[in-house]
Amino acid sequence: MKIAVIGAGAMGCLYGGKLSAIESNQVYLLDVWKEHVDTINEKGLWMEEKGERLHYPRVKASLDPKEVGPVDLAIVFVKSTMTEKAVMESRALFGPATWILTLQNGLGNIEKIGEIAGLEHVLGGTTAHGAYMKGPGEICHAGFGKTIIGEINGEETPRIRELHELLGNADLETEISRNILGLIWDKLIVNVGINPLTAITSLTNGELLQHPELLKIMERAVAEAVSVAEAKGIRLSYDDPFAHVKQVCHGTSANKSSMLQDILNHRKTEIDRINGAVWLEGDSSKVETPVNQVLTELVRYLEKRKAPPVQEA
Ligand code: NAD
Repeated sequence: MKIAVIGAGAMGCLYGGKLSAIESNQVYLLDVWKEHVDTINEKGLWMEEKGERLHYPRVKASLDPKEVGPVDLAIVFVKSTMTEKAVMESRALFGPATWILTLQNGLGNIEKIGEIAGLEHVLGGTTAHGAYMKGPGEICHAGFGKTIIGEINGEETPRIRELHELLGNADLETEISRNILGLIWDKLIVNVGINPLTAITSLTNGELLQHPELLKIMERAVAEAVSVAEAKGIRLSYDDPFAHVKQVCHGTSANKSSMLQDILNHRKTEIDRINGAVWLEGDSSKVETPVNQVLTELVRYLEKRKAPPVQEA
């Protein structure tokens, strides 16, 4: 299968690397980061996993989707704030039968990809894996979990079963869901509760649990997101979403959330697609979301702060 990953950061390299280990796949990693692309083409991709250093020499990288041409499967793994731009620039990858899979966090990715490439091409999902960049051409696979995929309309089609098999064969444990929008909201609600609070306080996921005043804010942010989901007719999986979010904090207690890492590295965060999306969807569904609004504005303020100037020796 000819596969392209749009956005070869931590997660794109994780999925692209593992898929490239199967002989019948040819995987192309597409990114705008030239040094990373050149390093992969020179030395292959390296992945640290459970204390081992794995090498994926068959994967190719490119800055130019036109060089790659139409693929059977495109996986979108840019940050959700970049989806529209990256997918627009990647149109050369899409043929009449291309499947386009998004496993990104945040709301709006399916819709944006669908507007550009046609919704009939789009498959959705979530991933419970975690990864981070170590440097050009090298990532660390730090968290392990299931990938859940599905058709937007919930049907179990031959293509979703084929994709399930493809990912499973690549050592990525995968399930098919008939309620993919519900799953995306389940994951959104976890991010709504954890990400902005860690970004604002610089605490790890687990440290949040030690502060009752922060848990009160988390509970209210989560309750607002649940009300918005209910108003939109989204079916969530958890009876007690706040208890689930606290469980995730416990299970990932040493993690620095991606939003905290983005703030620490002076990068743009996904706040507008997470708490900001709850605010926007709340407005259109006539649900009040004051806590999500405050959290969004605070993280936007943190994003504006520049890196400190380098001190002269
Ligand atoms: P990342 O920042 O490591 O990677 C994104 C990559 O996209 C970067 O290499 C960047 O150069 C590239 N990019 C930016 N603009 C581009 C463009 N126009 N065309 C092509 N490439 C472009 O991000 P990540 O941590 O891999 O996260 C990707 C998505 O997966 C996010 O939605 C994130 O929330 C989600 N996610 C991340 C993790 C994790 O542990 N990192 C876990 C689950 C879900």
